[in-house]
Amino acid sequence: MILVLINFLLSLDHLGEEVIMYRVLLVKLTTFDHLILKEVICHLRKLGFEVHYLNEVVHLNMLMFNWDRLQYDAEKIVNYLSERFSDFPYDSIIAIGHLNVYINNEKYVIGLHKEKIGIVFSYKYEDEKGSIDKFVSRVKKEIVHEIGHTLGLNDCSTPGCVMNEVNSVEDIDKKDYVFCPKCTALLLNINNKG
Ligand SMILES: [Zn+2]
Ligand SMILES: [Zn+2]
Repeated sequence: MILVLINFLLSLDHLGEEVIMYRVLLVKLTTFDHLILKEVICHLRKLGFEVHYLNEVVHLNMLMFNWDRLQYDAEKIVNYLSERFSDFPYDSIIAIGHLNVYINNEKYVIGLHKEKIGIVFSYKYEDEKGSIDKFVSRVKKEIVHEIGHTLGLNDCSTPGCVMNEVNSVEDIDKKDYVFCPKCTALLLNINNKG
């Protein structure tokens, strides 16, 4: 009992005064270095999310690929994931794939969401200088961003908030890894999780 209490206090101390209890399932659409995933999961847990992940890769099929554009179709992917995972008992289901993907008339897409399904496409996150740290930091931020959307947050204009909308991959580097106080308060309130 004492040990449990100590752990609880330690986790509170770690998180600051606010704890966001949402259940998040992480799904891989391609293989990822387990150290990258570990860092992502650690970060999400620090934010207070309860994170689980599927060990196996969820494979896409050629019907989701556009052979003229040589890219995957984001809408087909999100619909497929929605059919497959919407009933899973999680508040947010986040897929991550190192895939070249487009949506509508856009050249490419780096992340999107539909209801409680969010997807992060890391293909464009690679740093010109080959910095793995930059790649991982972009992945982390955009995963938090998509989680925010799946939980009901909109894009936020507070400087530095992880919910800042980005127009380019470089824009991701300008924001922080965490929700601003306004978004945090919204997260605690919108679903009565506070
Ligand atoms: Zn957004
Ligand atoms: Zn915000």
